[in-house]
Amino acid sequence: MNSSLELGKIMGIPVRLHWTLLLVILYVAWAFASFSQTVYGNTYGFGDIEPAQMRWLYSLLFAVVLFACVALHELGHSYVAHKNGIGIKSITLYFFGGVASMEEIPRNPRMELQMAFAGPAVSGVLGFISVYLAGPAAAYGGASSALAIMLWTLGIMNLILMAFNLLPAFPMDGGRLLRAWFATQMPYIKATRRAADIGKIFATLMFLLGLSSLNFMLLFVAFFVYVGASEEEKATEISVSLEGISVRNIMSAPVRSIALDMTLDELKELMFREKHRGYPVMDGDTLTGIITLTDLQKVAEAQRAVTRVDQVMTRKLYLIGPEEEASTAMKMMNDMQIRRLPVIAEGRLVGIVSREDLVRAIELCREREH
Ligand SMILES: [Zn+2]
Repeated sequence: MNSSLELGKIMGIPVRLHWTLLLVILYVAWAFASFSQTVYGNTYGFGDIEPAQMRWLYSLLFAVVLFACVALHELGHSYVAHKNGIGIKSITLYFFGGVASMEEIPRNPRMELQMAFAGPAVSGVLGFISVYLAGPAAAYGGASSALAIMLWTLGIMNLILMAFNLLPAFPMDGGRLLRAWFATQMPYIKATRRAADIGKIFATLMFLLGLSSLNFMLLFVAFFVYVGASEEEKATEISVSLEGISVRNIMSAPVRSIALDMTLDELKELMFREKHRGYPVMDGDTLTGIITLTDLQKVAEAQRAVTRVDQVMTRKLYLIGPEEEASTAMKMMNDMQIRRLPVIAEGRLVGIVSREDLVRAIELCREREH
């Protein structure tokens, strides 16, 4: 489903807008058109601008520019990644901010430090420039002039964006900075665990603070940070464990395959005997499908004696080569929601790799680490 709109390309990277962001731009415009506050002589919020239509217009302009600043934050990360030779597929602006979709980042703490820092640095610079320019704008047109309010509000929001992203918790940039810094002193996986633990403590404190003040926004962010920390930890553990392991190292071979004309009753017996939940199906020497316990269970008991394997097998196959990385197999299984991949070399079936094989490999590697 195409739920995002391509705005254009910057540095060759397509920048997309997710439709949810349109709602948020309207919400932000409404929020900033509805209030006005003056702190130490500086006004933010467009609520006092007259006539009322102008309030909306300025506020809408503000919201659009604010999200352009979010895009620049993302481009900051992408620029450093690009300079280090990492391919960036796209940048999508969601309601919560931006997400740059890039190739897997090599585990190089120095580079990660630079990359994670680039985004908040861009927000910080934009924030300071904007706040700085608000001074002359106020001197020229008055503190309650639209331009002064615009610059001041943009400046403050960019500084908040910087501060929020520097929170030392995944998935915020601060969490990555923390991990990269730990990783200069200890193995990557340990650094990730430590950074994730700090993120979780942080999330717990935010949660308690949110509960005691009944601040739902804070509760939401706490939840987001907690989940982010756990996911980063899991993903890193898996990719570190599988590093340098190819499909050939973990696949099951030789493969037990079955013929097309086997009946489901025979198949069931074979599954029980060999304790396999799936088999490749061969037509002579050619792989034509895969049959699994799930396929078998779709057929009523009474029909199984007269139903052949090729009547119910899955014919759409995703294949992988033996020299591919195990983490690629993992990614394919996750993306396609499947449990096993036939391994093909020079057109011939040489093995099969399943989720169980991957899980076993991850566990064994974890054992080796301790
Ligand atoms: Zn960022």
